[in-house]
Amino acid sequence: MLNALAEVPLAPFTTLRAGGPAQRLILLDSAEQLAEVAAVAQVVGEPLTVLGSGSNVLPSDLGVEGTVLINRSRGLKIEPDGTVTADSGFPLQDLFLKTVQQGLTGLEFAVGIPGTLGGALASNAGAYRSSIGSFVTAVEVVEGGLVRWEPASFLKLSYRHSILREPAGRGIVVTRVRLRLQPGDSWRALQDAREFQRQRISKQPAPASAGSFFKNVEDRGLAESLPGLPQALKDAGVVPAGYLLEAVGLRGFRHGGALFSHRHANFLLNVARATATEIRELAEIAKERVYDRFGRRLEEEVLLLGRWINPS
Ligand SMILES: Cc1cc2nc3c(=O)[nH]c(=O)nc-3n(C[C@H](O)[C@H](O)[C@H](O)COP(=O)(O)OP(=O)(O)OC[C@H]3O[C@@H](n4cnc5c(N)ncnc54)[C@H](O)[C@@H]3O)c2cc1C
Repeated sequence: MLNALAEVPLAPFTTLRAGGPAQRLILLDSAEQLAEVAAVAQVVGEPLTVLGSGSNVLPSDLGVEGTVLINRSRGLKIEPDGTVTADSGFPLQDLFLKTVQQGLTGLEFAVGIPGTLGGALASNAGAYRSSIGSFVTAVEVVEGGLVRWEPASFLKLSYRHSILREPAGRGIVVTRVRLRLQPGDSWRALQDAREFQRQRISKQPAPASAGSFFKNVEDRGLAESLPGLPQALKDAGVVPAGYLLEAVGLRGFRHGGALFSHRHANFLLNVARATATEIRELAEIAKERVYDRFGRRLEEEVLLLGRWINPS
């Protein structure tokens, strides 16, 4: 029998360490439990939110209605041909370590991304020119109370996006994920992972954050017009959100307990018990300044959960 806890603060379940309570919270240890609870909630029409490591979310201070499921499912099967089937609660970094030990490569980029596989799919997590979507072949989902397998195309993955972020996909729960990895040079993959980790440590601030707060801007015209933007980014037509935030003077800018990092302008940090409202307000200041100066709207990579007063 699963225990539902009432009015549980969500801040400890997020890496930003902010946000109000879940109306009901259930901790789950298996994909079967996740599927069962999700199906029942969908059938009775109860709002449902699945959290993995909470490393890409900001729950409102007013809380999150309905049931929040903390997904700790950790099942994993690795087959000799490179087919990997993992529960959606499997930590992404551990998946790299387990698969590389079996001589399978590709997930090196995941080292340093502190999330689960399910959370990684929601925003097609990636780094160093790789993303999880390139390796996913199928997903087991629960929708409308039914459990079924779908091909990866069902997820509509693109840059930091998936159907799970769209209104149409809200409420869909991913329970298992099938990936295809290639046999390769494990030693080389571990060296690459170590180098990625070194780069992260040198660039990323330590305090509470959700990683990059905003998505980078894909806009060739803007990229070409910006002085000092590296040629590779101009060629790719990509403007890092951090470039825009720095240009409008927000590197190191503080609002309440929230701060844009000095080290990495797109890392919004909780440095002094910031409320979710303060974090959101700082994000709105950033969006307004960037729009006024560049005419482009920054879009949050971090997902805002629950009910917000005065959403912009
Ligand atoms: C220090 C730091 C560095 C980071 N670096 C990177 C990086 O390099 N690249 C990158 O892409 N991201 C990065 N992130 C962001 C984050 O770690 C990733 O997006 C991660 O994959 C999120 O996984 P999670 O389990 O924490 O998801 P959560 O934050 O728990 O959830 C994120 C979203 O996914 C949904 N979700 C979670 N599980 C499921 C499921 N089973 N079914 C349906 N929906 C689900 C949630 O409802 C929510 O909407 C970083 C974060 C931090 C704190």
